[in-house]
Amino acid sequence: MTDLDTLPGLIVSAQSGLFDVETEQGIFVAQLRGKLKETRSISDLAALGDRVWIRRIDNRQAVIESVLPRTRVLSRQAPHGEHEQVIVANPDQVFFVIACADPPPNPRMLDRLLVAAEREHIPALICANKVDLVDAAFVGDVFGSYERIGYPVIPTSAKHGQGLPELLERLHDRINVFAGPSGVGKSSLLNAVQPGLGLRTGAVRQATRKGKHTTVSLHLVKLSGGGYVADTPGVKAFALWDIEPEELDAYFPELRALVPECDFSDCTHMHEPGCAVLEALRLGEISAERYDSYRRMRLGDD
Ligand code: GDP
Ligand code: ZN
Repeated sequence: MTDLDTLPGLIVSAQSGLFDVETEQGIFVAQLRGKLKETRSISDLAALGDRVWIRRIDNRQAVIESVLPRTRVLSRQAPHGEHEQVIVANPDQVFFVIACADPPPNPRMLDRLLVAAEREHIPALICANKVDLVDAAFVGDVFGSYERIGYPVIPTSAKHGQGLPELLERLHDRINVFAGPSGVGKSSLLNAVQPGLGLRTGAVRQATRKGKHTTVSLHLVKLSGGGYVADTPGVKAFALWDIEPEELDAYFPELRALVPECDFSDCTHMHEPGCAVLEALRLGEISAERYDSYRRMRLGDD
């Protein structure tokens, strides 16, 4: 074996222990080296988005020799069991795609998604799609409070093209994840920024479904201008698990900033005297909607 046979790559597709690894010499189909497999379950060891070193077997096949340390992961709780299942390794950011209408925005759900992203330390952006269906003031009214606490909001119309250049610029050279409820336009947006991709949108999916659950496809879609988008793990990937009520305030950036000013170090921000959060709420300095989401999540009744 020569050094020429070993090369770095990126896992762009993962399915039942077989990986497509993109390298400077093209895409190789690779399995994990036997020794790597002995340690833990395969989905934890190597996943979409992992940077790896492979050893070529021939022009098409290779063996994954090692997996580089991850910066962060998007994971979910495995369907059976307690362990974490990595969906995308090394995501640079996640776009929560929300429709301005049809379906209407659900701030409670958006807040849950944002909390999950904060917990995983994944920078989050909000894509407010279908702006063509609402009037000019709508995006500011509904999403302005998010922009004020640091989440970029990108109004788009996959249908008419508004905001697509900005979206593309944001996607450029990064590993991106699109997530959000179905019907908001995730596939349409991807098709719009990457013509020729031909992802099936809702209307087509409906016609071909036949009552089956759509399988979670695990691919990184390559953008011709550079960068990748993980082919929609939907909202399920952002299910909240393993969050202790006491740590919740750390995942609301606007609350996080106030917590040190509360009189009690274990303040729940719901009834305590000397609570900086309640004071900010009274003064209208934080969004009442967002506070309501916090309260519901804290009480476990959202
Ligand atoms: P996904 O489930 O999030 O992937 O959503 P789809 O991309 O399948 O879109 C759902 C529906 O919304 C389809 O009928 C699309 O044509 C429509 N749609 C997507 N984006 C827009 C948009 O910007 N404006 C309007 N008016 N309709 C859109
Ligand atoms: Zn407090």
